[in-house]
Amino acid sequence: MVPIERYEILILGGGKAGKTLAMDQASGGRRVAVVEAGMIGGSCINVACIPTKTLVRSAAVAALVRRSGAFGVSSEAPSIDMGRVSGRTAEVVAGMVAANAKAFAESGFDLVLGWGRFVEPRVIEVAGEGGTRRLTGERIFLNLGTRAAIPPIPGLREAVPLTHVEALALDVLPSHLVVIGGGYIGLEMAQAFRHLGAEVTIIERGPQLAAREDADVASAIQGLFQADNVALALDARVARVSGRSGESVTVELEDGRCVNGSHLLVAAGREPMTREIGLELAGVTLDAHGFIEVDEHLATRAPGIWALGEAAGSPMFTHVSLDDYRIAKSGIEGGSRTTRSRIVPYCVFIEPEFARVGLSERDAQRAGIAYRLARLPMDAVPRARTLSEREGFMKAWDCPVSVDGYGA
Ligand SMILES: Cc1cc2nc3c(=O)[nH]c(=O)nc-3n(C[C@H](O)[C@H](O)[C@H](O)COP(=O)(O)OP(=O)(O)OC[C@H]3O[C@@H](n4cnc5c(N)ncnc54)[C@H](O)[C@@H]3O)c2cc1C
Repeated sequence: MVPIERYEILILGGGKAGKTLAMDQASGGRRVAVVEAGMIGGSCINVACIPTKTLVRSAAVAALVRRSGAFGVSSEAPSIDMGRVSGRTAEVVAGMVAANAKAFAESGFDLVLGWGRFVEPRVIEVAGEGGTRRLTGERIFLNLGTRAAIPPIPGLREAVPLTHVEALALDVLPSHLVVIGGGYIGLEMAQAFRHLGAEVTIIERGPQLAAREDADVASAIQGLFQADNVALALDARVARVSGRSGESVTVELEDGRCVNGSHLLVAAGREPMTREIGLELAGVTLDAHGFIEVDEHLATRAPGIWALGEAAGSPMFTHVSLDDYRIAKSGIEGGSRTTRSRIVPYCVFIEPEFARVGLSERDAQRAGIAYRLARLPMDAVPRARTLSEREGFMKAWDCPVSVDGYGA
């Protein structure tokens, strides 16, 4: 029988919230363990924010070189070495993983590498390289993250599509990348590959790109993509996929249209990593989409177990996961910090960037909030003119009353 190792704080999944909580609490003298499947530092630095932004930067350089003549600087048309592009991405990631590993070791928590699952209400079993271990904690935190969802479309799995993980490691430039999904991840990847020189088609089932944004924002983004000759199929539901990504793929739409490409990228939502890890044994409940049910202090239905980050249904940004850490820390230290009225700023790293904080205009209208709107085209901003980046606009609104943390 494997003996049970006891910790004050046990964390399953080492995302932004979990690793920060572990370092903080271990530095403060608590006995802490983190069970992590293998991504030291979590998704953000390994397969998400950092590598995408590194790829986006290479793409931005290519785009700038292509229009360098407009600045009075002549240069050859860029030639793209995808091996070097993905190599640079890998170097940036490796540097951050090494820095995380060093910080983990210095803080003194136990990093237990391997896949963890509950085998008793408060016991997590980890099957790692060093054999099987069983761990328990006075307080247990789940920071499991999400992965790319592969919708149940006939032929899609068989086509072995790319997700962001594989796309970020490509050492060849797709001749034609077909992207299923016009959300933030799809937009960043689509524009980056277009700027690197691939033909790109985005297939979006809704009527606009960036579904959560106001129609004028979506329309400005669509204008940018169309100016770059990215083909857009909106209101487009995929009926079936044939072929294989990396060779040749055909995406057939329900309305009969067909899109052919060399590579297929799926960016059609995220699914939480909550299945088949015994959460039901622990008494942790899930919502209909598999996200862990938590209260405003991130406590699950199981006493002494909290959930943090995306798998707990928190907005899908690293800085939100970091804020979940602050809430967890506050709870441990007797504070009362909550997720209530949390205002989440975010940025989508297309060119020019799109960023928002607060309710959208559409949200305000739906809520029946009277507001005053200020709208300024970027063309009116002298700095934008000096950069020759005159597309887009800024808008801001205020309202006379306080609305759940906003306004007044
Ligand atoms: C392509 C892409 C780009 C993004 N860009 C941005 C951006 O620019 N800005 C931004 O703010 N956000 C961005 N995000 C979102 C951001 O990456 C996440 O919100 C952030 O990483 C926080 O995730 P998390 O803390 O919930 O979990 P994660 O960081 O995903 O960590 C969960 C960890 O749990 C581990 N794990 C899961 N199950 C188990 C198990 N059973 N046993 C052991 N270990 C387990 C996983 O290996 C993983 O390391 C992006 C996401 C994607 C996919």
